[in-house]
Amino acid sequence: MTSSQKSKAGGPGVYARLGVKPVINAQSWVTALGGSLMAPEVLRAMQEASTAFVDLHALHLAAGELVARACGAEAGLVTGGAAASNVLMAAACMAGDDPSKIDRLPDSSGMKNEVVIFEGHRNHYDSNFEVAGARVVPWGFARTGKPYQLEEAITGKTCAMAWIAAPFMLDPMPLKEAAEIAHSHGVPVIVDAAAEVPPMENLTRFIANGADLVGYSGGKGIRGPQATGLLAGRRDLVAAAFQNYLNTHGTRAGVGRSSKASKEDIVGLVTALQIFMDTDHEAVWAGWRAGAQHIVDRLQDIDGLHVVLEDGDPNRQGPQAVIYFERDWGGQGPDAVRDALRAGDPAIHVGAGGYRDEINVVMTNVQPGEERLIADRLEEILSGTGDGNSGSEGSTS
Ligand SMILES: *Cc1c(COP(=O)(O)O)cnc(C)c1O
Repeated sequence: MTSSQKSKAGGPGVYARLGVKPVINAQSWVTALGGSLMAPEVLRAMQEASTAFVDLHALHLAAGELVARACGAEAGLVTGGAAASNVLMAAACMAGDDPSKIDRLPDSSGMKNEVVIFEGHRNHYDSNFEVAGARVVPWGFARTGKPYQLEEAITGKTCAMAWIAAPFMLDPMPLKEAAEIAHSHGVPVIVDAAAEVPPMENLTRFIANGADLVGYSGGKGIRGPQATGLLAGRRDLVAAAFQNYLNTHGTRAGVGRSSKASKEDIVGLVTALQIFMDTDHEAVWAGWRAGAQHIVDRLQDIDGLHVVLEDGDPNRQGPQAVIYFERDWGGQGPDAVRDALRAGDPAIHVGAGGYRDEINVVMTNVQPGEERLIADRLEEILSGTGDGNSGSEGSTS
């Protein structure tokens, strides 16, 4: 290891003082590994924001305009994360901007409070809708859903149809078609697209295809503050979401109040969003492709593995090096390989599965030079020349 890699492995002092070691994140924008890294311009904007007081309501309205424009929506809002956007979308569809209903949530008795969701879209963020006081009502099967099944699930108690856009998630039909069914019953469509940007087109795609509200993470591919999210859509519903967040007309804190964005967060997010919109994404993609290609090239000759550059698959977050384990593979299985990568120093986290039990080396958060460390360690582990820990030799502990 060179000394610069060593210092990278040792990591910033703030973490070292807490006895926490930085990791290499080849798993994507997962919260458990810190989401994404903010650009220096974003951090500078947040620092500047921290030097003065402002009317938070006015700041929200101004930032919301920028979010709306980026998403091609009537209105927008900065939230405390995509999970918070989910809470607010459900709350807005149940209580609207009625102060007495907002005061009552999460007790939604007497309100339309059922969120219908395709069975194959269910995921652990369903609970966000329940936090607001909604009941989740699944329709269809795990892999298929027919229009009549959606029609049957919608009743006089339905407040919204939820739609989840995420890697490897199957859609029962195009969003547009499902949205037409929901709208024919007067039911608004709420979309969780937390990790769907980049590509940038996805900022406008869901609204264009019938979403009444859509939520995104601010701290994933947009690279804003980790604890921020975007919410965009119909003006009346965004206004309702805002009331369920800061409840300026009622007497109690809204259900959204437990995940607030600060003035620094709001400024950081709009700065990151602007940078994201101005970014040459082709160039960023090319960098990810080159890193993934390096790893693919290094692992090409190992028998029993099919190692490929996967590029252009909408289920994958950018170009990735993917390791498929063939029938004649005689080494450690994917789980053991992932464990060995995590056990090294620095720990390397890679993605899991998708189509089969493959290993996905996701490049979105891999820092320059780290693709070599990843290739070194994978080579050792997969060609059986190391115990998976040899990356730690000579490095700091
Ligand atoms: C990451 C994610 C969330 C949560 O996003 P946060 O911004 O971390 O709150 C919600 N839904 C889906 C589908 C996600 O991938």
